[in-house]
Amino acid sequence: MKKIIFLGPPGSGKGIASQKIAPIFNIPHISTGELIRQSLKEENQIGKEIKEIMERGELISDEIIIEILKERISNKDCNKGFILDGFPRTITQAEILNQIIDIDIAVHMNVTDNVVIERNSARITCKECGKIYNLKDFPPKMQGMCNNCKGEIIRRKDDDLEIMKERLEVYKKQTLPLIDFYKEKEILTEVFCDKIEQTPEQTFQKVMEAINKFIENN
Ligand code: AMP
Repeated sequence: MKKIIFLGPPGSGKGIASQKIAPIFNIPHISTGELIRQSLKEENQIGKEIKEIMERGELISDEIIIEILKERISNKDCNKGFILDGFPRTITQAEILNQIIDIDIAVHMNVTDNVVIERNSARITCKECGKIYNLKDFPPKMQGMCNNCKGEIIRRKDDDLEIMKERLEVYKKQTLPLIDFYKEKEILTEVFCDKIEQTPEQTFQKVMEAINKFIENN
């Protein structure tokens, strides 16, 4: 059973890398951002408020996201483990996760601000299934259409430059302290992705190497 979490700023490549790694370990890839976006397709008042929070680049409340996450990991397909992409994002979330399950590996995508901003300028996403692409290095095979589900490819509102900068600040304030949290638990592995020209495939290879090395040594 493998329970892996990915930590890293938006645009660090954790989305694409974790999507590619999940089938290798035969475990589901769970993106909390995507879970929320899917649940927002039905419009209601709470949904509207959450959408506004996301579009400002802020985090939604720990209570709500923890409920969503708990429900998702209680699904049968998580019996063999899972990859969490975008959770936990605060110390409270990490502490609660720690109470309900033992995480095996925390992968930290260590990326400079420049790379984050540059990568995000080219990020596009499938509106239907949430698959992430990059206009430069990892475009969909058919322009505007998802390889997976043939859904429409869009640019997320929260990937706009100003919102992106806000998300980066939120990451530094609220999520970065988790690096020490997992270091202390001795389950942290670092992946340095500090070259703008590094392709998603190269990032994925680096992540696989880090995970395999961690598994060998533990
Ligand atoms: P992501 O798709 O991971 O970039 O997440 C998009 C947005 O969803 C974030 O900017 C937050 O508003 C919200 N979100 C996703 N995961 C979490 C989380 N673990 N805690 C709070 N908000 C989250």
